[in-house]
Amino acid sequence: MQFGWTDEQTRLHQRMRALGSDVAAVKPPERMRALAAAGALALPLPARHGGAEHDLVTTAYAFEGLGETLDDAGLLLAAGAHLFGVALVLARVGTEAQCARWLPELASGERLASVAVTEHRSGSNVAAVAGVVEPDPAGLRATGEKCYVTNAERAGLFLFVGRTAEQARGLTAVLVPRETPGVVVGKPLELAGLRTAGVAPVSFQGCPVSAGAVLGKRGAGMAVFHLAMGFERALLLAFRLGAMRRQLDEALTFAARRTLGESSILEHDAVAHRLARMKRRLETSRLLVYRAAWELDTGERAAGSAALAKWHVAESAAESALDAFALRGAAGCLEESGLPGAIDDALAATIHSGTADVLATVVARSLAPHRQSG
Ligand SMILES: Cc1cc2nc3c(=O)[nH]c(=O)nc-3n(C[C@H](O)[C@H](O)[C@H](O)COP(=O)(O)OP(=O)(O)OC[C@H]3O[C@@H](n4cnc5c(N)ncnc54)[C@H](O)[C@@H]3O)c2cc1C
Repeated sequence: MQFGWTDEQTRLHQRMRALGSDVAAVKPPERMRALAAAGALALPLPARHGGAEHDLVTTAYAFEGLGETLDDAGLLLAAGAHLFGVALVLARVGTEAQCARWLPELASGERLASVAVTEHRSGSNVAAVAGVVEPDPAGLRATGEKCYVTNAERAGLFLFVGRTAEQARGLTAVLVPRETPGVVVGKPLELAGLRTAGVAPVSFQGCPVSAGAVLGKRGAGMAVFHLAMGFERALLLAFRLGAMRRQLDEALTFAARRTLGESSILEHDAVAHRLARMKRRLETSRLLVYRAAWELDTGERAAGSAALAKWHVAESAAESALDAFALRGAAGCLEESGLPGAIDDALAATIHSGTADVLATVVARSLAPHRQSG
């Protein structure tokens, strides 16, 4: 087992750190374009379709670099949903024709993508979606009301999952371009955290799609969804590792400089231990993310490891954001500290790609596959 990085990985990480600083200086609406122009959306995609073909451990390390210098969790979530929730899934299970049609545009960021699965009445229980993918004289038709779709505001391609009419229990995943008649993107939601993720409802009103738009096989939509969740849970919060490191560095600097009377607050064990706990959460989060990415690189499904990584990183980031806030006293309450927003961002991240409760069930199932409940 090795814990070091190769020179190539280190160079890429440093390039992404520098890119994060550059993107931070760009106006928010232009940021996704800047990330894409520098190749951040192509990192793990196949070279023959415009990607850089990095493995997933290296890709995660690149996103850690971005998170260190780019304090825009909503944007990085949206970039990850595009790349890990759709593009990577397409690269793994798409036909050659689907990959050739969509991957070059997804890799360059010319077209952005969204996962459109959640519905108000199904929520965590994806098997209960009411949306359908049903036969139509011209091919297939997708109908359904999806909510909380990350990136919807910017997306040009949706990975829609709906019930397959002739198979009561089966789901089918289809790729629906935004320009398809019947696609209606709603008003972006005013989230408390992750505001720049472009989350909105999307209505699919009898959208005609060809049989060639089915990802995987008809009736295999749940497997496609699980693949997307494996990638998202392992990799979507890799940028958070960088953000947690930045927050720890800033908290340490603040604590060292903040003197009350003659002594620094760092002299109090209670303060130093908050920093120690932030360090523990950062390092354990890193181990779990890279472990899950490594398993995926070896071709494993990694459902348990990916769920463990997402569960732990999301909760760790939320707890560390609260510690960073508490450590600053009233100064943490000021908007300019960035901490109220960081707490909101971190809390929102405990919900997407599976709530903590759902992820605990996935981990439990990986320990005891024959358990009946959950
Ligand atoms: C910022 C953000 C971005 C998102 N992006 C997307 C996206 O791009 N695409 C998309 O399709 N969806 C997206 N979602 C939706 C997200 O996947 C769902 O919100 C999530 O799956 C939970 O569904 P729900 O909100 O309906 O909560 P519910 O499922 O109603 O859950 C309510 C509570 O019940 C608990 N619960 C529910 N079922 C179980 C269970 N089986 N076991 C234990 N506890 C359970 C939950 O843990 C939670 O505490 C996003 C959400 C957020 C907040």
